[in-house]
Amino acid sequence: MALIVAKFGGTSVADVERIERAAEKIVREVEAGNQVAVVVSAMSGVTNTLVGYCGEISKLHDLREYDVVVSSGEQITSGLMAMALQKRGIAARSWLGWQIPFKTNDMHGKARITDIQTEELKKRLGSGEVAVVPGFQGITEANRISTLGRGGSDTSAVALAAALEADRCDIYTDVDGVYTTDPRIVPQARKIKKISFEEMIELASLGSKVLQTRSVEIAMKQGVKLQVLSSFEDHIGSDMPGTLVVQESEIMEEELVSGIACSRDEAKITLLRVSDVPGVASKVFSPLGKAGVNVDMIVQNVSADGQFTDMTFTVSRADLPRALEVVEKLEEVEYEKILSSDNVSKVSVVGVGMISHPGVAEKMFTTLANKGINIQVISTSEIKISVLIEEDYTELAVRALHAAYGLEETA
Ligand code: ASP
Ligand code: MG
Repeated sequence: MALIVAKFGGTSVADVERIERAAEKIVREVEAGNQVAVVVSAMSGVTNTLVGYCGEISKLHDLREYDVVVSSGEQITSGLMAMALQKRGIAARSWLGWQIPFKTNDMHGKARITDIQTEELKKRLGSGEVAVVPGFQGITEANRISTLGRGGSDTSAVALAAALEADRCDIYTDVDGVYTTDPRIVPQARKIKKISFEEMIELASLGSKVLQTRSVEIAMKQGVKLQVLSSFEDHIGSDMPGTLVVQESEIMEEELVSGIACSRDEAKITLLRVSDVPGVASKVFSPLGKAGVNVDMIVQNVSADGQFTDMTFTVSRADLPRALEVVEKLEEVEYEKILSSDNVSKVSVVGVGMISHPGVAEKMFTTLANKGINIQVISTSEIKISVLIEEDYTELAVRALHAAYGLEETA
């Protein structure tokens, strides 16, 4: 017998028929002797619609009321899920965020969970009841409804699994697992059986949108075993059909490289001939940070003459206008010219194996060179190498790298 948190994303509860299908899976988990807490998203598209309503009233609406509005999608699906379970003879009830409660800080619109009370839930689960919990919702110290940021139901599920000390957190979604790369780009991409939290965080933040990055960070910190699986196949979580996200030590056969990620949400800014004196980087990047612009990759050249250097960095595409506004207004920094481009993408090779195996970077650079792809910026960490390239070459680069590291399906 296990205690399982099962989370169903928006496409898995998109209409009543799908909610009933999801309920069938829970029935099978219960019949197998497991205790289950179900976390549900809003029906797909509903949250977008609700966000749209708020914007129609005013661009600068009260975020506390925004949370009241956008949290309601999950309230609907949790009630419907509880009914669907009851119809199948399962004792089930919904527990809204404020009823549990899921306590959060007061950052409305992107609140963070501070505490989850689980005593009552544990008692009910122990007596065979299924708890249905809307994701995304919380309540602040001031007793106001809060939400956890877009995609936040993953975080609700993982945090609940941690608080309940669940054996596993199953994330039912519209793909059957985490792949070595985007199967739409490389049809031979292979489903990964087990992946480490660290790699999953890289893949999640690098553009594989299967899980909200924050949810994986919480899972890693709290040691919650995650499984990503499809709700559209006949399996249930306990059949273990999906991708397991676990501690690195639980992975016996480590791959050198686990996956290739790409992101087109990139833009590049270059400051030409910046004066090469101490403090310049701080004077450029502090105002960007203050403006809420996240800088990702950075390169600064050695200056040949000891006086001037070129500085290039990347930001998300949406942040480009704001970032340009900030650098154009820099007062204490002298430079000759600003260049910018959003015709770039970032391609990354991810794998914990590269810590102990040299040559991974060299293979990446050679592979791209053989395809005539120019590398504009490089950044590395212990478990990933990222390059910035011209956007038009994204798919070619991903395909070539996927083949070069031998990641395709062999059977
Ligand atoms: N319904 C919310 C959203 O669309 C939360 C979630 O589904 O994870 O962002
Ligand atoms: Mg999601």
